[in-house]
Amino acid sequence: MIFVSRPAHYISIALVVCLSLLWTVCAQAQNTLSVNDMRFGKHADKTRMVLELSRVSDFRTFVLPDPYRLVVDLRSFKWNVANIEQPHGTGIKSVRNGLLEPGISRIVIDMDRAVLIQSAFILPAASGQPNRLVVDFAPVSPAAFTAGHKKIYGTLETTKPSFNLQTADPSIAPPPRLNARTATPPPPAPKPARTKPVIVIDAGHGGQDPGAVAAGNLYEKTITLAAARELKDILEKSGRYTVKLTRDSDKFIRLSNRVKLARKYGGDLFISIHADSIDKHTVRGASVYTLSDKASDAQTARLAARENKADLIGGVDLTHEDEDVADILIDLAMRDTMNQSKFLANTLVHHLQKNSVRTLPNAHRYAGFAVLKAPDIPSVLAEIGFMSNRTEARNLNTKNYRKKIVNALKSGIDAYFAQVQKNNNQ
Ligand code: ZN
Repeated sequence: MIFVSRPAHYISIALVVCLSLLWTVCAQAQNTLSVNDMRFGKHADKTRMVLELSRVSDFRTFVLPDPYRLVVDLRSFKWNVANIEQPHGTGIKSVRNGLLEPGISRIVIDMDRAVLIQSAFILPAASGQPNRLVVDFAPVSPAAFTAGHKKIYGTLETTKPSFNLQTADPSIAPPPRLNARTATPPPPAPKPARTKPVIVIDAGHGGQDPGAVAAGNLYEKTITLAAARELKDILEKSGRYTVKLTRDSDKFIRLSNRVKLARKYGGDLFISIHADSIDKHTVRGASVYTLSDKASDAQTARLAARENKADLIGGVDLTHEDEDVADILIDLAMRDTMNQSKFLANTLVHHLQKNSVRTLPNAHRYAGFAVLKAPDIPSVLAEIGFMSNRTEARNLNTKNYRKKIVNALKSGIDAYFAQVQKNNNQ
C-alpha cells in the first residue's frame, strides 16, 4: 500500500505546489498594470490614441504648454510597448514614460504643435479586445490652447502636492533629470511658485549599531552624524535647498526605514554618509557608491555586505522585509533614477577630487546597498574615509577635515542640480 500510494502522494504535492505557484503568478499579473500596446490613428478631425491595458485603471490626461505635451497618468505600470507607429501629420515628436510618484506612472507625448483633448475614456475588455484607454485629441490654435488647456480628463488623483520644476517630466531621456515624481501635475496655477529641491542626508548607523570602530573608541556612527549635520548646515545656508536628516540623534534606524523616510520627505536626492573600515590599514580615501545588483569589485561587495548587516546588528530580521521592497526592485529597471544616481556619484567624486579630498582609485563604485533602494530618488552612499586608517580616522574626527569634505559634497550637489536645471529648461 505504502509503496503504491507514495508516488501518488508526491504527485499530489507537486500538483498543489504548481497550482499555488500558478495562482500567485496570476494574482500578481492581475495586480500589476501593464501597458501592452500604444497606437495612434489619424482621422479627419482628430487623432485617436489607444493604449492597451492589462486591466482597467483610473487615469488622468491633460495637456501642457511650452513645450506642448499630452500627458497620461495611470496607476504605476509595466511598459510592454515595443514600438509605436506614428502616422504622419499627428504632430507627435516622441513618447516617454516614467514614475510620477510611488504608485503612479506617467506617459508624456511630446508634440510639435498645440493640441487639445476632445475626449478620453476607458473601454473595458470586450469581444476579444483588451482593456483600452482611448484619448482623442486635435490640433488647435495657440489662442484656443490657452483658453482650453486646463481641462483634466479622468479621475486619477496624485497624493503629492505639486511643486518644483515646472517643466520636469518623467523621462527615459539621458540623465540627469530631476525625478519624474517632482513633475508638476496639471496646472491650476499658470506659473506655480518653485520650491527648493529636497535633499535627504542619511547619517549611517546609530544607536546599538556603531558601524566601524577606530582606535580610542571612535565610532563611525558619531562621525557620520557630525558630517551629516555639517553638510545640512552648509546646504541650508546656501538658501537653495530644503534639507532633511534621517536621524539627528544617536538612534538606530533600519535601512528600509531610511529609504522610507527619504520618500516621505519627498527627497529629490538621497545621500547616505559612512566611513569604511578594512583589514588593510594603509588604505585610505573617500569613495561614492551607487546601487547595482553586481558589485564593481570584491572589496565593494564585502563593504556592501558589511553595511547591509546594520539591520542585523539592530536586531532586525531581514528575512521579513517589507513587501514594497520587491515592487521597488521591479520598478527600478524602468526608471532613469539609476542614471541620475550615477551622474550624481560621478559629480560628487569629481568635486571631492577638485577640493583635494583624497579618494580611492575608481572612486565611483557599485554594489547592492540596501539603503540605496528608493526607486524614485537619485541615491548615493558616500564613504568619506577609512576608520581603519589611523590618520584618516583622526582627520575624520576633526571638524576642519570634515569641513573640506562637506564643502566638496556641497559643490558636487550644486553642480548636480545646476545640470538638472539645465536639462529641464531644454
Ligand atoms: Zn557604514
